[in-house]
Amino acid sequence: MMTALISICIVIFFISRISDLTSVVSQVNPPKNGLDPTIIASLPLFLYKRNDHDNDIIECSICLSIIEDGELVRVLPNCKHNFHVECIDKWFNYHSTCPVCRTEAESRLLPEPREGVVNHTPP
Ligand SMILES: [Zn+2]
Ligand SMILES: [Zn+2]
Repeated sequence: MMTALISICIVIFFISRISDLTSVVSQVNPPKNGLDPTIIASLPLFLYKRNDHDNDIIECSICLSIIEDGELVRVLPNCKHNFHVECIDKWFNYHSTCPVCRTEAESRLLPEPREGVVNHTPP
């Protein structure tokens, strides 16, 4: 009788320990590491026109097909790589970097230093 009570106590103790552990693990490792949908939506996009690009052929590295005239294209602000909007948006559900060069896709809030250097005037 006493041993049964003790074993029940032990089981309850272990169950509570396990649930503590799993809650800690889920806090440390969030299940998704994609980009926030608001960040995805804020990335620049444009309507691809072959004429504007001097007949340059741009390939979407996600679906490996050529971007056609009149398709919506997202350009990553940090590395200038181009992808179909629907391809890159799906990618960013699970990743936060460019699929080609692994640059962070979220635009960095840094001032552009090049312009300041070009217009440099001595005091
Ligand atoms: Zn694509
Ligand atoms: Zn890139």
